[in-house]
Amino acid sequence: MNFSVCNRKGKTTRRPPPKKPSNNQKDPVGVYCRVRPLGAEDEECCIEVISNTTIQLHAPDGLKANRNGEFKETQYSFKKVFGIKTTQRELFADVAKPLVEDLIHCKNGLLFTYGVTGSGKTYTMTGSPGQGGLLPRSLDMIFNSIGPYQAKRYVFKPDDKNGMEVQNQVDALLDRQKRDSQTSVPKTPTTRRTDPEFADMISPEEACKAGGVDEDSSYSVFVSYIEIYNNYIYDLLEETPFDPIKPKPPQSKILREDQNHNMYVAGCTEVEVKSTEEAFEVFWRGQKKRRIANTQLNRESSRSHSVFIIKLAQAPLDADGDTVLQDKSQVNVSQLCLVDLAGSERTSRTRAEGSRLREAGNINQSLMTLRTCIEVLRENQMCGTNKMVPYRDSKVTHLFKNYFDGEGKVRMVVCVNPKADDYEETLLVMRFAEMTQEVEVARPVDRPICGFLTHRLEERGGPVDGESPTVLNQLLQSFHPLPPCEISGPNDDVTLPRLIEALEKRHKIRQMMVEEYNKTANMLKSVLQEQDSNLLSKENFIQEQRGRLGEKDKMIQNQKNEIDRLEKKSKMLEYKIDILQKTTNIYEEDKRSLQHELESREQRLQREMSEKRRMETRMQGIVTDAKLKWEKECERRVNAKQLEMQNKLWVKDEKLKQLKAIVTEGKTENRQPQRPSREKDKVAAKRSVSPSPVPSSLSSLEPIYKFSQTVRPDPHFPRPGSVSVASCISEWEQGVPHCCRQGSQSPPDSRKRAQGLPDSLRRRRGRCWAREVPVQPAEVDLEETGHWVSRTGPLVRPLHRRSHSAGGERWVDHKPTTNVDLDTVLQPNIPNAIKVNAPNEKALSKCDKYVLTHQEFASDGEIQTKLIKGEVFKTRGGGQAVQFTDIETLKQENPLAASRKRRSSETGPDGEPMERNWTDVETRCSVAVEMRAGSSLGPGYQHHGYPKRRKP
Ligand code: ADP
Ligand code: MG
Repeated sequence: MNFSVCNRKGKTTRRPPPKKPSNNQKDPVGVYCRVRPLGAEDEECCIEVISNTTIQLHAPDGLKANRNGEFKETQYSFKKVFGIKTTQRELFADVAKPLVEDLIHCKNGLLFTYGVTGSGKTYTMTGSPGQGGLLPRSLDMIFNSIGPYQAKRYVFKPDDKNGMEVQNQVDALLDRQKRDSQTSVPKTPTTRRTDPEFADMISPEEACKAGGVDEDSSYSVFVSYIEIYNNYIYDLLEETPFDPIKPKPPQSKILREDQNHNMYVAGCTEVEVKSTEEAFEVFWRGQKKRRIANTQLNRESSRSHSVFIIKLAQAPLDADGDTVLQDKSQVNVSQLCLVDLAGSERTSRTRAEGSRLREAGNINQSLMTLRTCIEVLRENQMCGTNKMVPYRDSKVTHLFKNYFDGEGKVRMVVCVNPKADDYEETLLVMRFAEMTQEVEVARPVDRPICGFLTHRLEERGGPVDGESPTVLNQLLQSFHPLPPCEISGPNDDVTLPRLIEALEKRHKIRQMMVEEYNKTANMLKSVLQEQDSNLLSKENFIQEQRGRLGEKDKMIQNQKNEIDRLEKKSKMLEYKIDILQKTTNIYEEDKRSLQHELESREQRLQREMSEKRRMETRMQGIVTDAKLKWEKECERRVNAKQLEMQNKLWVKDEKLKQLKAIVTEGKTENRQPQRPSREKDKVAAKRSVSPSPVPSSLSSLEPIYKFSQTVRPDPHFPRPGSVSVASCISEWEQGVPHCCRQGSQSPPDSRKRAQGLPDSLRRRRGRCWAREVPVQPAEVDLEETGHWVSRTGPLVRPLHRRSHSAGGERWVDHKPTTNVDLDTVLQPNIPNAIKVNAPNEKALSKCDKYVLTHQEFASDGEIQTKLIKGEVFKTRGGGQAVQFTDIETLKQENPLAASRKRRSSETGPDGEPMERNWTDVETRCSVAVEMRAGSSLGPGYQHHGYPKRRKP
C-alpha cells in the first residue's frame, strides 16, 4: 500500500482530478505570518500588525521614500497574523493542530516556515526548551491521540518503496528481539523528558489530543529527517559507522517516484517511534548530526532546508482485536512534512564567496524554483492554462510536488523580523507570501477512517447479527452427552423418553446451526461479492493505469526524440561556435594587420603633411616673389601706357601744329614756309631727347583733355576737382631727365611721380610707343615695349598710313625663336603675312600691320600667349614705326584648376566678391581709357574696353 494516503485500499489519490473522488473543492494555501520581537528594544521597527490578518510595512528611515518620493507603506494580508506576543501554543493551535488532525484522519499535510535568516523559522518550527515549536507539539499531539492504539513495534514495516507492509506476529517478535539484543538500553524511555537538551519542550499540561481516533485500528509512527543542502539530499538519521580517523562525508540521497507517482527519498531511514520523547530524541539526534556535518564541512545551517517527515501507518485490527490484519491493502499511510526552509535572503546579503557563493546560489535557486512553481501554479489556476510546473528544477519542490498537485493541505508560516535591516528582504518575502496565497490546492476528501468497519468488527467477532455466534457457542457447549441409552427392561420408560428428549434437543440445536450456517454463508457471499466488485474496480484501475503507462511511455519516447534532436542541435551549435571562433581569429588577425597598416599609413601621412607644410612655405615664398615681380611689371605697364598716351597727345599736337602751319601758309602764300620757331624747335629738340615730349602749346588743348570727375576714382589718392593733362604731363616731364638716366628701364621713381596723378591718368600714359627702324632686336617682348620709345622724332601717322584697300592688309608676323610650340587649337594664322623672328625694316616697310606673338607665364604658372598687334607707320625721317594698338591674350588653362581658381578668386577671404577685372593691369588701363566717351582711339582700345575674353 502506498503512503499516499487518504485513500484506502491502495487507491491512489495521485490520479488526475476527474478521477479523484469528489475533491472538486479547493482551498488556498494557508499562509500565516509570524512577527518576532525585535532583538533590541531601541531597534527601528518597520512592521506594524494592523489587524489579526494584516500587517503594514514601513520603509526604514534610511530608505524612506521610493522612486516617486512618496513614503512607502505597504500592507499585506494573511490567513492570520501572529504578533510578537503570540505563544508557541497559540500558533500551534491555529496552524499545526488541524494538520495533525488530518494526519490522524489519513490526510497528508505540508507545513513550512519561510523567511530570512534570523526571522524565527527555526524558533517557530523547533522552538526552545519550555517554548517547544510546531514540531514537538505535533509529535506530542499525535502520541497523545493514538497512544493506546499503537501497534507493537515492527508490526508495520516500511517496504523501501514508500509503502508499508504488515509483518506477522512471529517476524515482528523476532525483529523486536534482535533490536533488544543490539541495544542494551531500552529504546523507549519510560519517563518523559529525559534528555536535558530537549527537556520541557512541551509541558504536560499543554498536551493536545485529536478527536475521532479509530479505536479499532492499530497505529504506528515513523519519522525521517532529511536535510537539503546545495540541492543534495542528506539523510540525517542514517546510522553510519563512525570512523574517527577518516570521517566519511555524508552520502546524498536521490528522489524516486513510487507506483502512485508520489515522490520519496530513496533509501531514507524511517525510524519507528512509540512516544513523543522517542520521536523528539530521534529528531535531536538528526539535529546533532546536522550540526556536526555543518561544522565539519564548514556549511551554514541557515542555507539548508531541513525536512522532518512524520508518517502515520494505520491498519484495522483482526478479529481477535489484538493483532493487525495481515493485509497490506488495508494499511493506510499518511504523512506530515515539517519543513524549515533556508533563509530567503539574497546571495549578496550573505556575503558569500567562492564555493560558498555557489552553495548560496543553489539555495536561493531552490527558493527561486519554489517561487516559480507557485507562480506557474497560480497562473494555471487563474488563467486556466496548463503550463508545466518546474517542480523538477530543485529537490525541495520535486519532493513536495504532490502536495501542490492536490494531495493534502499546504500551510506556510512566513516569519518576519521587523528590524530595519531586513526591510528589503522582508518585502520580497511578503510578495512571495501574497502570491502563494493565491494558489489553491485540492481539498482532501473527508472520508470515514475505516470503510470496512463493519467487516472488521465481524472479523473481531463483533455483534454483526444479533448474538448468533455467541448463541451458537453456547448451544455447542450445551450439547450435553447423550444420557445412557441402555434399556434396563421392557418396563424401562425412563431411558427412552430421556433419549428422545436429548435427541430432540440436539435436533433443535442442529436446525439452529443450519440456520446460522446459512445466514453466515449468505453474509460471506455478500462479502465475497463486494470483494469481487472491488477486485473488478481494481482491475479496471490497473487497466487504466496500463493505458496511462503506455501514454507515458510514448511521452518518454517523444522526449527522448526531443533530447536526441536537441543534442544534435547542440552539436551543430558547437560546430558553429567553433567556426565562429575561427572566423573571429581570422578577423582579429586581419584587424591586427590593418592596424599595422594604418599605423604605417599614419606615419606616411605625417611625413607627407610635414612635406606639404614645407612645400607650402616654399610656395608662399614663390608666390610672394611672383607677386612682387608682377607688381613691378604692372607698374611698368602703367608707365608704358602713360608714355603712349603722352605720345598720342604729342602726335595730335604735332598734327595741329602742322595744320596750323598749312593754314598759315595758305594765308600768306607768298611767304616762305617757315620752320617752327626756334623756341618751338628747341622744344621739339628737347622733346626728341625726352622719352615723351609734350609741346608746351599743348596747354592750349587743356580743356579737351580735362577728365571729368566721373572717372573711376582711386580711393588711395585724394585729388583735386579736376586735373589737366597738360599739367600732369608737365609734372611728369620734370622727372624725365631722371628717367633717361636710368637707361631704357622704366624710371624707378615714375611711380612716385605718377602718384601725384589721378589713377586714370596714370593709366593712360605711354599707351603708344613708336620708334625708328630698325625696329627691335629679336628679343622683343611686351616687357620691352616701354623701350621702344622713339628718340628721334615724333610719329606722323596719318600721312604714312598704308591704304587698307590696296590688296588688303599685310602683316609682319613676329614670332621670337624663344617661343615654345604650344599645342593649342587656337593659333594665329594670318594669310599673306611675312613671318620674322626679329623685325627688320624691310619687312616692316612692306607691311602696314605688325603682330608679335609673345609668351609669358601667367600668375597661375600657366603659359599665356599674347598677340601684340600694332600698326606700322612711316616716320617723317623715312623710317618705320610701330604703334601698338591691341593685345589678344590666349590663355591655356586646366578646366579643373581653372574652375577652382575662379571660384576662389571670385570671392575674397571675407566672402566678398573680388574685383576680378581690376586685378589685371591691362584691363584696368583699357577700361580707364575707354571711359572717355567719344574717344577716337583705335579699335584696339575698343577691344580692350571689355573684360578680357578668355580663350579656351
Ligand atoms: P531563523 O531560523 O529564521 O534563522 P531563528 O529561529 O534561529 O531564526 O531565530 C533567531 C533568534 O531569534 C533565536 O535566538 C530565536 O530564539 C529568536 N526568536 C525568533 N523568533 C522569536 C519569537 N517569536 N520570540 C522570541 N524569540 C524569537
Ligand atoms: Mg533557522
